[in-house]
Amino acid sequence: TATLLEVKDLKIYFPIKKGLIKKTTSYVKAVDQVSFSVREGETLGLVGESGCGKSTTGRGITQLVKPTAGSIMFDNCDLNDLSVKEMRRKRKELQMVFQDPYASLNPRLTVENILAEPLKAHGIKDRNKRKKMIEEIMEVCGLNKAFINRYAHEFSGGQRQRIGIARALILKPKMIIADEPVAALDVSIQAQILNLLKDLQEEFKLTYLFISHDLSVVRHLCNRVAVMYLGRIVEIGETDKIYDNPLHPYTETLLSAIPISNPREKKERIILQGDVPSPVDPPAGCAFVGRCPKVMDRCHEQRPELKEIEGGHHVACHLYENEGLQLEESKDENSV
Ligand code: SF4
Ligand code: MG
Repeated sequence: TATLLEVKDLKIYFPIKKGLIKKTTSYVKAVDQVSFSVREGETLGLVGESGCGKSTTGRGITQLVKPTAGSIMFDNCDLNDLSVKEMRRKRKELQMVFQDPYASLNPRLTVENILAEPLKAHGIKDRNKRKKMIEEIMEVCGLNKAFINRYAHEFSGGQRQRIGIARALILKPKMIIADEPVAALDVSIQAQILNLLKDLQEEFKLTYLFISHDLSVVRHLCNRVAVMYLGRIVEIGETDKIYDNPLHPYTETLLSAIPISNPREKKERIILQGDVPSPVDPPAGCAFVGRCPKVMDRCHEQRPELKEIEGGHHVACHLYENEGLQLEESKDENSV
């Protein structure tokens, strides 16, 4: 299948002023040389702890924050090159769903007002036509269309997120970036919203970038997973490969913290030493250097590049320096 989104060497740095007398500037490197692609119709999970840059990556792609460098090819154009006006038009195809349905919906607007807004912005002037589209998308998203004149604050958290999803979907986009769409909801409601997202994906052939800190949610929803740490992607690959055979020591740590469903399965929780370092002054070598149980000398100096170990499974870690090569050799032996 074709690639719909290709992010290359994305950097999002925020300047901070230091020093009262002699003004100097340093940068929070929130996203630092991030590259990945999303294929049409797939769900790519972007995971990591809070502050790792995953939300900023999503916001950078949709130009809610302006990237510092890199390219974002979507639907045959580089979003970083678009004017504000051109980007507004492009948003028809690329929408976001946010974490907190309480904060992202104006409680003083009715459902009709909320859902009419994107339609108006994209030139649908006929009110009856808009109303028909709004009722349609409400039903698709599991909202009773009889509630069209109710205010956002009259709905429960789960229903509000359905409104948020309906707003993202009403223009029939190609892709949705969902940033922790269930994190603010009760566990009992989370599954309903995740199932809705799955059904909608099938019905509308949607492509998702699914941002989450919750690895059990990601496992059920995503075809592939990218793991972020301190503004960088440290591992990316098919979901089963990542969960069954995590390569990066950080991914191992993250996975060791998920409760297991089978209690007979032995798993030891890895406890990390130290804190996440500051993105203001990230380590010169590997970002994980201060907390890695397997750290080696060169990890302090050399930044490990993402490297393909086998079929689409990439890792950025010096432990695997020679791995790809060895796999090639053993493949040759097998074929003899
Ligand atoms: Fe650990 Fe070194 Fe690998 Fe970084 S590069 S994860 S410090 S072994
Ligand atoms: Mg976030």
